[in-house]
Amino acid sequence: MTSITKRCAVCGRFRAYHADDLHCIVCGNDELETACSCGRAFDYALAEEGDIHCPRCGRALRGLPAIIQ
Ligand SMILES: [Zn+2]
Ligand SMILES: [Zn+2]
Repeated sequence: MTSITKRCAVCGRFRAYHADDLHCIVCGNDELETACSCGRAFDYALAEEGDIHCPRCGRALRGLPAIIQ
C-alpha cells in the first residue's frame, strides 16, 4: 500500500495516509485534501517543520486552521 501525503482542512496537519483514507487521524474530520487548491501535491510537506507555503501558489498551509482560503 503506498501512502500519500494528505492535509486536513480542519486542523491543518499533514500526515501520510493511504489513498482510501478519508478521516484525519488527529481530529477525525473527513476533510482531507490530497493537493493544494492550485493542484500542487503535498509530497514536499511531511518533512517540513513549522509554517510552510505552497511552492506553486504561495498559500499558507500550516499554523492557524485554514478552513478558509
Ligand atoms: Zn484534522
Ligand atoms: Zn498551491
